[in-house]
Amino acid sequence: MTATSLQDCEALDRQDPLRELRDRFDLPDGVIYLDGNSLGALPRATPRRVAEAVERGWGRGLIKSWNAEGWAGLPRTVGDKIARLIGAGPGEVVAADSTSVNLYKVLFAAIRLAATASPQRRIILSERGNFSTDLYIAESLCQQHGYTLKLVAPGDLQLALDGDVAVLMLTQVNFRTGAMHDMPSLTARAHAQGALAVWDLAHSAGAVPVDVHGAQADFAVGCGYKYLNGGPGSPAYVWVHPQHVNRVAQPLSGWWSHSAPFAFAAGYEPATGIDRYLAGSPPILSLVALDCGLDTLLSAEPLGGMAALRRKSLALTEMFMGLVRERLSGHGLGIVTPEEQSRRGSQVCLTRDEGGYAIVQALMARGVIGDFRVGDGQQQPDILRFGFAPLYVRFVDVWNAVEQLRQVLDRGEWRDARFAQPKPVT
Ligand SMILES: *Cc1c(COP(=O)(O)O)cnc(C)c1O
Repeated sequence: MTATSLQDCEALDRQDPLRELRDRFDLPDGVIYLDGNSLGALPRATPRRVAEAVERGWGRGLIKSWNAEGWAGLPRTVGDKIARLIGAGPGEVVAADSTSVNLYKVLFAAIRLAATASPQRRIILSERGNFSTDLYIAESLCQQHGYTLKLVAPGDLQLALDGDVAVLMLTQVNFRTGAMHDMPSLTARAHAQGALAVWDLAHSAGAVPVDVHGAQADFAVGCGYKYLNGGPGSPAYVWVHPQHVNRVAQPLSGWWSHSAPFAFAAGYEPATGIDRYLAGSPPILSLVALDCGLDTLLSAEPLGGMAALRRKSLALTEMFMGLVRERLSGHGLGIVTPEEQSRRGSQVCLTRDEGGYAIVQALMARGVIGDFRVGDGQQQPDILRFGFAPLYVRFVDVWNAVEQLRQVLDRGEWRDARFAQPKPVT
């Protein structure tokens, strides 16, 4: 898709079958928000729903609301909505804890399961550029259980999947490059080699159609505050294939994962089904916000659902890449996000030898919000990252963001000292 003017983009927005969904978000005036991959925007319905949970549920209903308001079942009711986005069945997902904690639970379960079939396998295999928390969690789990975390470049995964691997652990869409793995084929390769596959859907669910059953994945986790618009620090989620779920307990045997939490029994007995992936009391106010984020996302279903969202997301990222090439040539920008549609998530990542952080800050001062991800000084370059949440990003936003970036670069605005000061959260 090539746009040659702002008017072209306005026309595309008028024809967009999803255009009315943007109105469901409370976006500040004068802001082009290209960071929904890091913190999804606020749905207009959320403040009311949270206020009701506080005032009616907590204030008036008090303890009775655990039953009367369905609070106790929220991890599952919210989980069922997430299931619709990832190709899981009802009752197969719970919303709980953080992605990091859920990853720990499923990795533990996966190595236990793998060991029942072949205890000599001692490797967890992942991608070198995987998100830091995923690698930190895997590393400490490996240390605790005598496993080795093996990290390779994405192109070497198929080859590295040999008979020593117990578990393949990958994030479907890479946070730094926006590159997307072929989930069915890597899972199939893992299974052919006798390994299990754990997938992190943090940067894919809600932006890319995901089908955990179609891919025959074994375990999956994902994040609530990115494309699901659940709010800062929103609960994450966990899915386990029904064929595995009752075969092994996860390691955080809290009372909410017990078969009868309110029996206060002397011994631990895990719940049957996905409830055993809970641990402690669910964070109700945060779950209400996540529920509302999911309702907003699922309101796209009558308009074509995930397939329509994916079509729009690809058109947005494609247009952004095209405009960067055409209108920003000569500014030293590189594009690390794959050109091929089947290999691209919903973000575009740019590189530049110099000034990445300051350029993003200068853009923010002009109302264009993206983010910056520092490289490792070797294989991974610094990244200027732009996410395109198809629920609320418009084609005119793409045009205007590129235009603002052009002005920041043309005028050397980013060299201003006030943009050089690093903040704690980039
Ligand atoms: C965002 C993200 C996380 C977040 O983990 P938290 O525990 O929720 O902070 C984890 N993994 C990946 C791949 C992510 O993109």
